[in-house]
Amino acid sequence: MDNKRVVIVGAGLGGLRAAEALRANGFVGEIEIVGDEEHVPYNRPPLSKEALKSGLGHEDLKFRQRDSIADVHWKLGSGARSLNLEKKTLTLANGEELMFDGLVIATGIRPRLLPIPGPTQGLFTLRTLSDAQKLREAIVPGENLVILGSGFIGCELAATGTLLGANVHVVSLDSEPMVMPMGLELGGAMRRRHESKGVTFHLGRTVKSFNGDEKIESVTLDNGDVIPTGVVVEAIGSVPNVEWLEGNGLDLSNGVLVDHTMRLVGTEGTEGTEGTNVPVVAVGDVARHPSVLYADGPRRIEHWNMPTETGKRAGATLAALLKGEAPTDDPFSALPAFWSDQFEYQLQSYGLPGVAARSKVVSGDLDGPCIVEYFNDKDHLVGVIGIDTVKELVPYRKKLMNIDSSSS
Ligand SMILES: Cc1cc2nc3c(=O)[nH]c(=O)nc-3n(C[C@H](O)[C@H](O)[C@H](O)COP(=O)(O)OP(=O)(O)OC[C@H]3O[C@@H](n4cnc5c(N)ncnc54)[C@H](O)[C@@H]3O)c2cc1C
Repeated sequence: MDNKRVVIVGAGLGGLRAAEALRANGFVGEIEIVGDEEHVPYNRPPLSKEALKSGLGHEDLKFRQRDSIADVHWKLGSGARSLNLEKKTLTLANGEELMFDGLVIATGIRPRLLPIPGPTQGLFTLRTLSDAQKLREAIVPGENLVILGSGFIGCELAATGTLLGANVHVVSLDSEPMVMPMGLELGGAMRRRHESKGVTFHLGRTVKSFNGDEKIESVTLDNGDVIPTGVVVEAIGSVPNVEWLEGNGLDLSNGVLVDHTMRLVGTEGTEGTEGTNVPVVAVGDVARHPSVLYADGPRRIEHWNMPTETGKRAGATLAALLKGEAPTDDPFSALPAFWSDQFEYQLQSYGLPGVAARSKVVSGDLDGPCIVEYFNDKDHLVGVIGIDTVKELVPYRKKLMNIDSSSS
């Protein structure tokens, strides 16, 4: 397989980990990583936290590159536009065509935008370093910053915006911030923490219009309230970057559907890549993968640990397929884990609290350091979230790994 060529599309954490895993599993052929950003992979979580607050640059955020991938060829600044799986070719936005023997899909997600009428100058999203740099320049101490969406990124931005001196308004259709994974009680407790620092929440509300001539000068909410502001950030969810894969008979209904080896699965009635000799895998935020821990079928998990876990499995699969061997049949069982820093509070979660039917505070109380366990409708533990209890949460990693899909 010395002269085989793997192209990895997406120069983020997932693409990087897949490259490392290819080498770790004995692939010695050429690896080319295509990225639409100008940078080699860097760490995204600080973009809504430290990097936004103190203005860190790419040098501070870039991942260490291991010796094993020192010979990887980077093709940055022009993304993939289309794929022809049958011909094993990839066309880039600049028109260049690349051939491959094996392909890794690692294109992640992008922020979702609502069709809100009005000017767009002053409207921001946050996914890339360039987004964070532009937003940092726009935030003005003492002036209003409107954040649309109260999920993790919205709440992290609310905290950082406040620390940068802005008067932060969070507008969200939800009844409490971060309600989806946390539930009403813990979400409410996090709202109280934010409010005590000066954040204003407009819950059960959305933005009806951006007002102004060329640039945003205020926003009107659906109850008629008007908030004067020159800076709005939309943080209302994500869209998987899959358009470049269209026309290849793949299931792109919510990201890219893969099996437990991270190999692509086709749409119903087609074989996808299973029945062909084209080895293609997907990793990270864009991959909808099965796990013994997910009772309701394959999921996309937008947590930082997943690009590494799926990248390791995908690299091993691709290396095996390119050698003409069968990939491992071990089920995939990586435990979803995320953290979030908001003001001085450290949130940590394991498992899938978002699928729970009920929750229980098992340590501390909601307005201080606490641990909240989450149970499904069969009363099985499916997740845990702690605030300022990072160490105490460690034993849950083992406990939650014992969930099996029949019981959850
Ligand atoms: C602001 C922010 C804060 C976060 N904070 C946390 C946190 O606190 N805790 C946590 O657990 N997780 C956090 N996350 C999530 C975590 O960073 C992601 O799960 C992780 O970065 C996903 O890695 P990935 O490689 O799948 O995708 P990405 O890192 O998005 O990499 C995908 C790359 O592919 C590129 N690309 C897209 N389309 C194309 C194309 N057609 N051709 C070529 N390249 C393309 C993208 O531009 C990008 O460079 C945060 C994410 C963000 C944005």
